[in-house]
Amino acid sequence: QAKLKGRAQICGYEPSMQTQMSWRLEMEQALRLALAEDQLSIAFQPQLDEGGRIIGGEALMRWQHPRHGWVSPEVFIAIAEESDLIVELETWMLERCCGLLSRLPADVLPRLSVNISVRHFTQPGFVEGLTWVTGTHGIDPARLVVELTESIMIDGLEDAVERMQALKRLGVHLALDDFGTGFSSLAYLKSLPLDELKIDRSFVSNLDADGSDAAIVETILAMAQHLGIDVVAEGVENRAQRDFLLMRGCRLFQGFYFHRPMPLEDFEWLLAERVGADAG
Ligand code: C2E
Ligand code: MG
Ligand code: MG
Ligand code: MG
Repeated sequence: QAKLKGRAQICGYEPSMQTQMSWRLEMEQALRLALAEDQLSIAFQPQLDEGGRIIGGEALMRWQHPRHGWVSPEVFIAIAEESDLIVELETWMLERCCGLLSRLPADVLPRLSVNISVRHFTQPGFVEGLTWVTGTHGIDPARLVVELTESIMIDGLEDAVERMQALKRLGVHLALDDFGTGFSSLAYLKSLPLDELKIDRSFVSNLDADGSDAAIVETILAMAQHLGIDVVAEGVENRAQRDFLLMRGCRLFQGFYFHRPMPLEDFEWLLAERVGADAG
């Protein structure tokens, strides 16, 4: 029965599915080419402390397709994650980011966050690769923040903890991204060697409207404080949200209210301005 169904699909009884498959295949090939032909770039979004000082940034991958224009990372990362292409993309990303960290001193750019997908994180040799790239660029691994999502626990908590501990031994910082959207049992948090939680922007954006999201954010902040984990609020879009978070002990912020993701050149200008202001 299943076999028949499969054949029916291949024969085109479900054209939408087949179209979707060939579109994905085409995009995957285009993405491989993009890596080889320099169509990829990185946008940087500043992260700030409560005084408005830039303490670092998040590196976000960008792809400008020669015909389709800018493709959203939500789309192309998902395609890349279906194969080891994601490993190649993120290896490229890590190489660039470590290069930037070695070029800019720590007082100019204290830290940089990169997103690592579960497929890459669970790849044998991931820790060795990270050791190598931080080593060849001669950077302090503690300036690199590896952002993981709750999906790292897909193979079970123990495996995830073991892998994370290997990263901690290298010295990199670990952040749990999009917190609150995944499996989200608060109980497992205490078993993870985390430096940082990033509250998902869906909660932050509903702060003004929705009483229950405000309660969730308050709970996350209180709990993180107890566990000694820093919290970054992502997707902060207005002053009311910032003030709410600040009053409940949030100390780190990222969002359009402060800065949108920007090209490297603009990011470096901003960092230079900051250092200039400190000196003057
Ligand atoms: P993310 O890691 O949660 O990154 C934050 C996303 O929120 C970014 O979207 C950023 O532009 C957006 N954002 C920041 N502040 C605001 C705000 O105030 N309002 C709104 N509406 N949005 C805000 P972006 O750049 O489109 O990236 C989307 C996602 O793609 C990222 O979410 C991340 O999951 C993924 N991604 C990007 N680059 C990489 C990568 O190199 N590897 C992996 N695995 N994923 C990546
Ligand atoms: Mg992220
Ligand atoms: Mg996030
Ligand atoms: Mg997100």
